[in-house]
Amino acid sequence: MRISRKHKIPCFVFCGICALCFLGLTSLRAFAESLSNLRWESLPQAFIFHVSAATPIRYVTEDFIDKEGFCIVDILNVTQTYETRSIFPEDSRIYKIEIATNPNGRGVRMKFFPRGNLSYCIAAGDSPKAMKIIFSAPHDSSENIKTVITDNPVKTPITPVLPRLTPRAFTPPSPPSISTPAPTPPPPAKPIYRDAESKKRKLIIIDPGHGGKSLGARTAKKIKGKHYWEKDLVLSYAQKLKYLIDKSPNLTALMTRNSDVYVSLGDRVDFAQKNEGDYFVSIHLNDAPKPSSARGIEFFHWADTGATSAAMRYLESLENDQVLPKVSSSQDERLKKILTGMLKDALEEKKILSTGACESMWQSFQKNSYHRTHHRTPPVKSARFAVLANYAMPAILIEVGFMSNSKECEYLISDSFQWTTARLIYNGIQHYFAQEDANFSPNYLN
Ligand SMILES: [Zn+2]
Repeated sequence: MRISRKHKIPCFVFCGICALCFLGLTSLRAFAESLSNLRWESLPQAFIFHVSAATPIRYVTEDFIDKEGFCIVDILNVTQTYETRSIFPEDSRIYKIEIATNPNGRGVRMKFFPRGNLSYCIAAGDSPKAMKIIFSAPHDSSENIKTVITDNPVKTPITPVLPRLTPRAFTPPSPPSISTPAPTPPPPAKPIYRDAESKKRKLIIIDPGHGGKSLGARTAKKIKGKHYWEKDLVLSYAQKLKYLIDKSPNLTALMTRNSDVYVSLGDRVDFAQKNEGDYFVSIHLNDAPKPSSARGIEFFHWADTGATSAAMRYLESLENDQVLPKVSSSQDERLKKILTGMLKDALEEKKILSTGACESMWQSFQKNSYHRTHHRTPPVKSARFAVLANYAMPAILIEVGFMSNSKECEYLISDSFQWTTARLIYNGIQHYFAQEDANFSPNYLN
């Protein structure tokens, strides 16, 4: 571990065209210690993250890249608090940057997740109120343009998906209590008010699987020096899908989580129902219980009966969070209520729609050579996944590919593969509503 305080290292001189990305903060308190601007540059020889504040910056940095795969930069003299947000800069050197209020309640913590074992340094900015975090390594320009799908060129939108930082009112840290209270998971976002204009669009609830303590599957091997976790990758797929949907004329989207937080499976279903979603899609990555050559996409709808094979039993326990302590009993209670009450018929009715949604999704994916060649029969399946026990709307779960397959996991982490998959899911949703609703005019992406 390396700890350095307020060290200043002369900045390198970089040439080349700078691609500047700006992330404005939504509020700035006059005279208060708050961040005023964050931006980054993807240069040929380095990735540089710029931080500006209203007053001279004091910081501490800690390097866990060797052991944990990230480093921390704490800005100490910031009193404004922020909700956790992740930035995916789509750069070959940096996978993700997390920004949140420091867990001790004071200051802002920025966590940088480099791809591989990169070193970094801190340099002074243009003024005492600015600083730079520099990761020096050549940019792999093939990273973003590598096309793994041959029959459909990938279109990467020019604007990166930029989550907004939402300031919260400052709350001082609570004093430690004598008995340790049970951790309470953060509730999902509150229902939104849908006006007449937004009601004309179909509301898609996008559910990135896992999050927080629920890690999901891990890549079969290290890629660029590290293992990737399902919870991080599916968030990236979901954000890309939301980006495409938000640009469409006939759909709108909400996400059950937009950062690395744990949300229970019941809360995900409640969130979809309270917001009166028209369609629920959960995004996951598959895993095999032991080394196997299994690969390819699969689409699931609800089934009352449980798994009948060892592989499906394993997948159900993984996707139902049964690997986490104390989760399965409350989930079983919830399912029991649905399956023994009046709601069972409603769930059966929705199952017909969900099966249709899976088939529409497969029609969309068949247009792509990678997905088409790995299945002779339609990969439409059923499972007792708790998140699919949704009696209010069609609900499907997509297992995009197998993390346990050492070849396929290389595709799954690829940015271009993720954009292609997001586009195919988008088209599958369009196809479903075109089949189900005579008044719906589909809008497909090529
Ligand atoms: Zn999963």
